Amino acid sequence: MLESIRDSHPLVYKHFSSLPDGEKHIGRVIELDRYWEHINSEPPADAILPGESLPDGATMSGEYEIVYAGGTLGLLHAAVMAERYGHKILVIDRHVSGKSTRDWNISRGELHTLQETGLFTAEEIDSFIVRRYRTGWVEFFTDEERQKRLYMDNVLDCAVDADKLLGAAKYVVLAEERCSVLDHTTFLRCYRFPDHIVIEAAGPDGEPLFFKSQLLLDVMGILSPIAMQLNRGRSQTHVCPTVGTVSSGFEDLDYEVGEILASTENADTSNGSGRQLIWEGFPASGSEYITYLFFYDAVDSDNDKSLLGLFEAYFKKLPEYKTLSDNFRIHRPVFGIIPAYSHGGYGREREIAGDRILLLGDAASLGSPLTFCGFGSMVRNLHRLTAALDQALGADSLSRSDLEKISAYEPNVASMSNLMKYMCYDARTDTPGFVNELMNEVMIVLDDLPPRYRETMFRDEMRLDDFVTVLLKVAWRYPKVLKATYDKLGIDGSVSFLKNLAGWALSGAAKK
Ligand SMILES: Cc1cc2nc3c(=O)[nH]c(=O)nc-3n(C[C@H](O)[C@H](O)[C@H](O)COP(=O)(O)OP(=O)(O)OC[C@H]3O[C@@H](n4cnc5c(N)ncnc54)[C@H](O)[C@@H]3O)c2cc1C
Repeated sequence: MLESIRDSHPLVYKHFSSLPDGEKHIGRVIELDRYWEHINSEPPADAILPGESLPDGATMSGEYEIVYAGGTLGLLHAAVMAERYGHKILVIDRHVSGKSTRDWNISRGELHTLQETGLFTAEEIDSFIVRRYRTGWVEFFTDEERQKRLYMDNVLDCAVDADKLLGAAKYVVLAEERCSVLDHTTFLRCYRFPDHIVIEAAGPDGEPLFFKSQLLLDVMGILSPIAMQLNRGRSQTHVCPTVGTVSSGFEDLDYEVGEILASTENADTSNGSGRQLIWEGFPASGSEYITYLFFYDAVDSDNDKSLLGLFEAYFKKLPEYKTLSDNFRIHRPVFGIIPAYSHGGYGREREIAGDRILLLGDAASLGSPLTFCGFGSMVRNLHRLTAALDQALGADSLSRSDLEKISAYEPNVASMSNLMKYMCYDARTDTPGFVNELMNEVMIVLDDLPPRYRETMFRDEMRLDDFVTVLLKVAWRYPKVLKATYDKLGIDGSVSFLKNLAGWALSGAAKK
């Protein structure tokens, strides 16, 4: 596969060729880029079929209460359902479950909720953290005298070894004799009956496998064919293509500080309607340092959103973000297409369930459209999501309307999609410095407010009154945002924004 990109993406070719398993990594990048084929031309074949379509003579290889398709965040959920609630579980993954193509940052307080589920002790959680920073900052490129570097503590300040955490969750599942995990086993489709569901998968050698289950949990990430079918091919409204590396050999790094968001130039207008590239830099284990490059975009924009294209830009621009020493070495790439969904009304609009099927993680696309912390969203909601599902299984309440109540939808998080739309650069409405200028004003406003505002905003925990305060202050300081709202959100988008806020207010009132 590497040879096939030698001419089209020379820098990706050069750097991936230097990695011992570069061929494997490029295969995963190209696999994810198939998402664009599905979006642009060819949606995958239906993955949910009626029971009568089950092939004659299909023999069941096992019977379970829950089958999880997807073993990344799926493993965390599965571990609680297996250990705490005693369910009989199968996890299948097309690659190796518990091995992610990314690492995670989160705050220690958020990780504490894993302890509340009973899954891990405080000591175990601490052992997953490879580095903790003193502070972190956000900064957008603009005139030096106006540029505000906004510092914040307790935000994404713990670097977590994703594979170690997921490996521990896998161990918990496998410790329960009745549960199984099958790697190199690909979900193909499922057949729905009134009182059960049959999952068809392809085993490591392509052999067909059938499993009978009460429930299918779809945790297959952005490529989920189930999400595409339930949402008629449009599982996301926005995306955040993200690439980077875990590397060592940079000069002048501060291993005590996380660079949460950093832009180093105005929007790149060389391609399509343009994109505002943003960096992140996070110290990791030992001398390792993670750098990410990403941009926010509408799923149907005319930009090149391929990970391959973004990797080429990453390797070209990395020396502009960080100084590379002669010892610079890439240990492994990290990448993915982070999904987002902008709900137009008062509550959740995206389909996340069918009878006997529930979507979780990126397949459900309910993580924050602004911070894109899908791991954080799962951790925050894990206790609620597992307890509610245990109850539903106990009561055999597994219809679509029962299951869709078990979701990680949070009205405060959903409202952030409106802010994300300002971050999606569009040459038709914006000057090249628009995103940087606006975000710099937001940083100035946040800097004037108590630390709670910035911390809760970047941890997806913001209160409505705090959010409104920030909006009003930004509009006061930077009135151009009002015209930008009309240009970028339009009348429909502005009405949706208000509906989202009303839904947020109503959810708060409902809780009281
Ligand atoms: C570069 C990057 C950095 C990130 N950093 C952070 C962070 O710091 N903090 C944070 O909170 N979030 C972060 N995120 C977001 C977070 O990683 C995701 O939200 C999370 O990985 C979603 O997990 P998932 O299990 O839902 O999907 P995925 O991680 O996409 O996993 C899907 C799984 O399903 C499997 N699968 C797919 N198709 C099939 C099939 N047909 N059959 C069987 N198995 C299948 C895959 O092999 C994979 O194991 C980051 C994302 C990226 C891309």
